[in-house]
Amino acid sequence: MDYSCPLCKADLSHRRLKRVPLSGESSWLALRWHLECPGCKGAIQSRQHQTEKAFVAAVLILPLLLNSFARVIGLKGSFVDFLAIVALTVIGAFAVRTFVISKDWERYVPFRENRL
Ligand SMILES: [Zn+2]
Repeated sequence: MDYSCPLCKADLSHRRLKRVPLSGESSWLALRWHLECPGCKGAIQSRQHQTEKAFVAAVLILPLLLNSFARVIGLKGSFVDFLAIVALTVIGAFAVRTFVISKDWERYVPFRENRL
């Protein structure tokens, strides 16, 4: 994954990006905001890869289905099962970021305001 700024090409991989509220938004509780590049102060936004979106949906839906299924068949899980599922989730997230998303896929794009 390419973490460079789309405007100035600075490496933002280990940088903390500031959230800047859009005009008309409260400075302490903004619902609409953009990220600010620490190098060029340009307005950028992050984007999610399709695989990340699918992974997040799976992490939310799969435990619900597994719990429902276990409830229906009367299976009781132990704490070790819980830890195993949490560990698999963390390893899965790491694997998706490392192996599925290509190295030249850009994490940040120039900010474009979406009007609802
Ligand atoms: Zn920049």
